[in-house]
Amino acid sequence: MANAFSGQLDKATVLAWLLEKDAAKLQSLWRWADEVRAKTVGDQVHLRGLLEVSNYCARQCSYCGIRTGNKSIARYRMTADEIVQAARQAASFGYGTVVLQGGEDFGLTTAWVEDVVRRIKAETDLAITLSLGERFPKELERWRKAGADRYLLRFETSDQRLFDRIHPPLKAALAAGQVESNAPNNVSRWELLTVIRDLGYELGSGVMVGIPGQTWESLADDILWFGKLDLDMIGVGPFIPHPETPLAGAVNSGPDLVTADVETTCKVVALARIVRPDANIPATTALGTVDRVNGRELGLRRGANVIMPNITPLKYRQAYEIYPDKAALNAPTEDEPDTVMELLNQIDRVPGVGQGKRGG
Ligand code: SAH
Repeated sequence: MANAFSGQLDKATVLAWLLEKDAAKLQSLWRWADEVRAKTVGDQVHLRGLLEVSNYCARQCSYCGIRTGNKSIARYRMTADEIVQAARQAASFGYGTVVLQGGEDFGLTTAWVEDVVRRIKAETDLAITLSLGERFPKELERWRKAGADRYLLRFETSDQRLFDRIHPPLKAALAAGQVESNAPNNVSRWELLTVIRDLGYELGSGVMVGIPGQTWESLADDILWFGKLDLDMIGVGPFIPHPETPLAGAVNSGPDLVTADVETTCKVVALARIVRPDANIPATTALGTVDRVNGRELGLRRGANVIMPNITPLKYRQAYEIYPDKAALNAPTEDEPDTVMELLNQIDRVPGVGQGKRGG
């Protein structure tokens, strides 16, 4: 089975791989994923400049360090000029895409984001990926029309009960007076994935690995969902507890629950590659954070074909702390274009040319 080329896997097989501990068998999984990666998307590694545009957030997600309840971080919102300037810099580094990510910040108004998208499109050949949380379908439509190419919205877990526990509805924040003007979005995160796809965006989603309470079985379901949703981009990273959140210090233990480690995350990356052979799959910053020396490299060797170097201005980086120690990875040296190129050289891969669309 290990060398078969197939987008099809059943749940029992996925689950067996997730639980596999035998190093020699795992080698065959890594090889399989790497072969599929080489055959379908080749040796190019697409570089997406990640710009963390705002750390304001209306939400109270229990996993995330920039949740509205965390009063210990300084909040910032980049200006339109700073964003356009950083996009120009990404283009000058040879990156094909800029990713505008942020908290669910309604201070980033529909018209403002629209204007920023138009300006970047007018000045560069970059693809634009938005990752701004659960915004209204009407806004997503305006941004798409303004030229945004892709949208990232992880479903985090397909276990609905777990999701509801870690991701309370915006209504709660509204009732507490933490969000002023906007009516809650009645379209669920899950439904938004279809909205995004139907608007013609390339669709990215994914999960955290090792969320407190996440079972191996639900993680196997998540992986099958990557295939069923026909995702263009799949982002997976280990859950890293943040001290200023309700999940501070939470660690899964017991045979049914997913461990938040590098090996498990790599299994999910590899299986994602097998179920969605031509998807764009990053070796994520979270993977690089739990293993600072080898995390990204292991991701790239086990199915990934994308890196998202952080291009957020240094004065803001520290404050975009969705999980601890994230900024350290992104201290000036580690995400420098030269350092990224060195990594690619070491593993005989080449930087992507062009925007790095799915299958292109
Ligand atoms: N507000 C946007 C962007 C969130 S940050 C949104 O909700 O889509 C992007 C991703 O970081 C999240 O989707 C989540 O999967 C991940 N993340 C957040 N907190 C994390 C943590 N403590 N450990 C690991 N990953 C985390």
